Amino acid sequence: MLIDIHCHANLYLAIDEIIREAKKVGVEKIISVGMSALSLERVLEISNQYESIYPSLGIHPEEVQMNEQIENQLEEVVDLIKKNKENICAIGEIGLDHHFVKNEELYPLQKKIFEKMLLLAQELELPVNLHTKGAEKLVFDTLPSYKIPNVNIHWYSGSENYLKLGIDRGYYFSITPAISYSPAVKKTVLMVDKEHLLLESDGPVKYAGKIGTPAMIREVFTSISKFKEISANELEVQLCDNTKKIFPKIFEK
Ligand SMILES: [Zn+2]
Repeated sequence: MLIDIHCHANLYLAIDEIIREAKKVGVEKIISVGMSALSLERVLEISNQYESIYPSLGIHPEEVQMNEQIENQLEEVVDLIKKNKENICAIGEIGLDHHFVKNEELYPLQKKIFEKMLLLAQELELPVNLHTKGAEKLVFDTLPSYKIPNVNIHWYSGSENYLKLGIDRGYYFSITPAISYSPAVKKTVLMVDKEHLLLESDGPVKYAGKIGTPAMIREVFTSISKFKEISANELEVQLCDNTKKIFPKIFEK
């Protein structure tokens, strides 16, 4: 069994088809990460509807430039997450972004939201699914102030220094279909030990013009097996064990 630990499943129009295609290639569990205040209810709804979908709730760092109301909605979002603490497997997608968010005036609000989400993860004892693009230093400087059960860095593309620091701290790193063309993703796979790798589609993000889907993690899996020189059988067991360690709740239902 393969598990897609970071997908924006609520954004697909034909979700039945997406799940069917995923199952065909052995992808049996999908963590659907929330992004915006408006999408969280939908993430919960599809996880009730489809047994292979597991919800993770949080506010994406780009929300500060998508939604002018986010600061006012923050308490409501926190309440919604607390209310659903038994049903969710993680807090995410959360983090900081200084790459797609260019307006520095938004950075203090982005940090405020991130810290609120980390506090929530600490309080609810849930792992986090993190976005760090262009803000690796600040994210890595912020994390030690919180007691979080486990950390996953999604689609890492920063410098080798922070990659090494994350490895030293025992963070997990999830690998996207960008492994087929991105030197940064390939480097992450080579440097992170097999006990800390996970699979993700980040769908419906596009890869080389093609809409990303959970089924694509089958190819990611094959690439990791090749780069790390680990047999498919061994790697499948390993990745499943890793997923169980960081996101135990998706194995409970
Ligand atoms: Zn994402």
